Amino acid sequence: MVSIAVQLDTDRAAAQHRARPASTSCDDRLADGPWAMDALPTLPPPPAQYGPGSSDHDVAPPTTPVQTTIPERYRTASPAELDARVTAAKEALGERLVVLGHHYQRDEVIAHADVIGDSFQLARAARETAAEHVVFCGVHFMAETADLLSRPDQSVVLPNLAAGCSMADMADLDAVTACWEQLGAVLGRAPDAPGPDGRVGVVPVTYMNSSAALKAFCGEHGGIVCTSSNAAAVLEWAFERGERVLFFPDQHLGRNTAAALGVPLSSMPVWDPRRALGGHDGQTVRGARVLLWRGWCSVHQRFTSAQVDAARAADPGVTVVVHPECPAPVVDAADDSGSTEKILRLVQGAPAGTSFAIGTEINMVRRLADAHPDKTITCLDPVICPCSTMYRIHPGYLAWVLEALVAGEVVNRVEVPASVAGPARVALERMLEVAR
Ligand code: SF4
Repeated sequence: MVSIAVQLDTDRAAAQHRARPASTSCDDRLADGPWAMDALPTLPPPPAQYGPGSSDHDVAPPTTPVQTTIPERYRTASPAELDARVTAAKEALGERLVVLGHHYQRDEVIAHADVIGDSFQLARAARETAAEHVVFCGVHFMAETADLLSRPDQSVVLPNLAAGCSMADMADLDAVTACWEQLGAVLGRAPDAPGPDGRVGVVPVTYMNSSAALKAFCGEHGGIVCTSSNAAAVLEWAFERGERVLFFPDQHLGRNTAAALGVPLSSMPVWDPRRALGGHDGQTVRGARVLLWRGWCSVHQRFTSAQVDAARAADPGVTVVVHPECPAPVVDAADDSGSTEKILRLVQGAPAGTSFAIGTEINMVRRLADAHPDKTITCLDPVICPCSTMYRIHPGYLAWVLEALVAGEVVNRVEVPASVAGPARVALERMLEVAR
């Protein structure tokens, strides 16, 4: 029965894959006005529904920033008018401004970005720029990281404070602290205290996609930050120092990376923060090599191995490349996996005529397809939506923050408090040392 169900699933996905036009998305309303989507908290919950408002069902910490209503003129302006306003404001600010755009941003915003990259590249750009104002077209944790790495006299601005990351919100400081205390009780010593062989009980490792408070937690407890491009080097660093790793918030990146390093799945229990001892007994926790936080990316968790099969059924010569935030069966079934930068390099370096099915956010895949008309580039998911929180950076918000800067007012500044910034920088610097 199971194999028939899987085959039906595969056939359906293959048919969708063949029939799909390149621009298919689940709901175009998301593009029009994120302020309208923000006002839809009562949509029915997933799993069937994905698209506008779907992030409303993610658990957001009470400290999550709230965006104020912006003036009506920005909400009702035409795309052409907003484009002209952003262009004029950028010209007026000149070298006092740098606009950073994440790969997953919409085209209308990317058109105005001075630097395009992943979260780590953009954080580096924020550190290296001489500009007085850094307008970060990404999500909240990225703006926090840019603030941590930039000079105190620079301001980092996030055009829409409601542009969070549902994955980052799945691990907050209270929940991680509670986990840490339980680990201490099970191990019989503070988790960051050395054992007989000099190694600590637990090394906390946080993905870049986390709040500054969690980066600070890692800084204070002998831990470190990682990105999707350096996670393997960071895990090796952590294994040298600790008996086990607590990896948060993305279970998939942790599992895929540790598995590639030879850690068996049986040594990687998932820590559910809503259950006592993460849902395990003490023996399982003590025997763990990696404790994987129960978090995920709502965009990348949608990819399935059936979609990989479908892509290959539709085009036997296709190369399937996926992001390591995808579930392990998808990464295992793909030809390759890696960060957005690695995906970019693979496509750029491939000869004309190569065919790719890519498992990552749709805006990036579409732009890759546009930039490489000599190659066939499709998204692995026939109906994938953009990252709905990233997409909240509408050009209306960008025009608003830029025109405020022209008028001498800094709105939506993201500033990490000094008490958090210090230890958070410690964890970031450890990462920079490990993976330069
Ligand atoms: S794509 Fe996923 S991990 Fe990235 S910002 Fe969106 S929800 Fe967060």
